[in-house]
Amino acid sequence: MNAQYRALFVAIVFVSSIASPGLAQAPVEKKPFSLTTTGEIDPDLAPVVGQLTTLFYQSYPKLVKRFEHPKKPAPRQINLVFARNIKVPAYYSNSTITVSVEWLQKHPDDLGVLTHELTHAVQAYPKSDPGWLTEGLADYARHLYGPKEQPGWALPTQLLAKQSYKDSYRVTGRFLLWLDDKHPGVVDKLHRRMQDREFAIEDFRTFTGTAIDELWEDSVRELKKKP
Ligand SMILES: [Zn+2]
Repeated sequence: MNAQYRALFVAIVFVSSIASPGLAQAPVEKKPFSLTTTGEIDPDLAPVVGQLTTLFYQSYPKLVKRFEHPKKPAPRQINLVFARNIKVPAYYSNSTITVSVEWLQKHPDDLGVLTHELTHAVQAYPKSDPGWLTEGLADYARHLYGPKEQPGWALPTQLLAKQSYKDSYRVTGRFLLWLDDKHPGVVDKLHRRMQDREFAIEDFRTFTGTAIDELWEDSVRELKKKP
């Protein structure tokens, strides 16, 4: 573990005064966005911690503005915990995002993982089923809300017939990007149905006039034509 090279990264609290104009009223919404970072990390990760903090203040207000449920405010204070020996790059639970130290050391450019997890904070689906839609929307949001440059990560430019909208993550994310381009606002409508625990697969047809299987085939065919 090279203890002598490690430093205790003591709770540095960054409090921002980024207010949310448009989202006034309820007391909780007046709280500023803030990020608390804790964990025992190597000093060489300090720049990444700084970049993640900057990204938080850039992307989270946008995610909240677009995806927050009007009656169920998203958390304004998020805890970012740097942990070792976790099995995934990052996960979200109860206002806390836990990120793998080892993952960031190997992939210091993978800042977008934060945007993905922050999307889960705003989604707050009472039931995260279907998982492919939950994860697909988080990657869709990661693509849109940053960071702008994401070395080593991108949504696919094309979708393949052998894939499925249920493939989750980037494949579903690309499908949702195509879908919202064809039917502006549909992603937000599906998302709200998930938040209200009312989502059903037929919603795709209700909101677009076309069943999801056909939408998928359309997306495969249309994206193939593009360079
Ligand atoms: Zn996720």
